[in-house]
Amino acid sequence: MKIVVQKFGGTSLATPELREKVCETIIAAKEEGYAIVVVVSAMGRVNEPYATDTLINLVKQINENPPKRELDMIMSCGEILSGSLLTSKLIAEEIKSVFFTGEQAGIITDGNYGDAHILYVNPKKIFEYLENDFVVVVAGFQGVTEEGELTTLGRGGSDTTASALGVAINAEVIDIFTDVEGIMTADPRVVENARLLDVITYNEVCQLAREGAKVVHPRAVEIAMQKSIPLRIRSTFTNSLGTMVTHNINEAQTINIMRDRLITGITYTSNISQIRILINDIKDRKEIELKIFKSLALANISVDFISVQPDLIMFTVFKDSLEKALEVLKNLDIYPEIEVDCSKVAIVGAAMTGIPGIMAKIMEALTEEDITLLQSGDSYTNIWCLVKKTDMQKAVKALHNKFQLGNKN
Ligand code: ADP
Ligand code: MG
Repeated sequence: MKIVVQKFGGTSLATPELREKVCETIIAAKEEGYAIVVVVSAMGRVNEPYATDTLINLVKQINENPPKRELDMIMSCGEILSGSLLTSKLIAEEIKSVFFTGEQAGIITDGNYGDAHILYVNPKKIFEYLENDFVVVVAGFQGVTEEGELTTLGRGGSDTTASALGVAINAEVIDIFTDVEGIMTADPRVVENARLLDVITYNEVCQLAREGAKVVHPRAVEIAMQKSIPLRIRSTFTNSLGTMVTHNINEAQTINIMRDRLITGITYTSNISQIRILINDIKDRKEIELKIFKSLALANISVDFISVQPDLIMFTVFKDSLEKALEVLKNLDIYPEIEVDCSKVAIVGAAMTGIPGIMAKIMEALTEEDITLLQSGDSYTNIWCLVKKTDMQKAVKALHNKFQLGNKN
């Protein structure tokens, strides 16, 4: 049995016309002889009636901090709606199909409500239905604990559902259908001439996804990679093949391990705040450093971009924990300088540190656009630049241009 997993994101399911298009895609795969598992997200985005964020707001109107267990139950409703709807539509088109919740699909998770990890998948029921020629539609983003508690998998969780199922049933390919052509050298909403990457390695896409390219969830990539199941990121709206994620250059997986390119793309994450602590009394430096980071850890605040210099300590926190961080520092009698709205722009590529001239090019790009670099850092595979949020778009575009990543136009 050759099996394909097709995952459809929220915007791909938002209107009756789009659901029509989704049905056509499913039927086309069926005609090619595939057994099909479809994974659905909730329909639409923020402010649309059945989107997950809308459901969260519904409960938050009543209780600002709803219990996580109950929040998971309401959050899981969006996928149940879209799955039932799509399955009913398929049946109306005389396609034999059945809809499963995460639990019915055999997705077993740990008990970490809101961000549960899939422990294993029991695909027995899915196989039964596939063997009987059913299209199996599964609610993404949800699972169940061994004790029978409903859980959700965190942002982008439907991608993870698709990958976990693909691995469990040994799919030939996992297709992630979304609202862009595939994985691009930058977010096409920010950079108009971003270029489609038609082949990319698991490693490269993991890095892009971890650094903010939300087009596919990094966990989903890691899961598919474990069994080398090819992932394709492609558009619901067109018939093009999108991006193939694999170890190999060609789909046939015969020759040539593909080499990661020097620079894959430019990504960004926002909602970051920078904290700068000037240390006047150098004598107590060590003690102060220790106190600061211990206290922040105790308060469960995650810090990033840490830079410790003789007279200055800098780091970033997510904007939503800024207030808490300032409170912690205040208790230590520390009143730092802050930059509330920052973005972390990442130049992502394999093995680029140590290549001469890259940092110089970055500085050149930012200076030419008059962008202040608040902080920078690097690892083996990334260079990060912290900029003001208002400079983010300009910075991403400038870096994308400087490294000539885009389509020529
Ligand atoms: P879905 O609802 O289908 O899961 P997402 O919103 O999660 O869709 O992901 C698709 C979005 O990812 C695109 O609309 C695009 O704006 C964004 N995106 C960010 N970085 C990239 C990138 N490098 N390539 C393609 N899309 C990107
Ligand atoms: Mg997504």
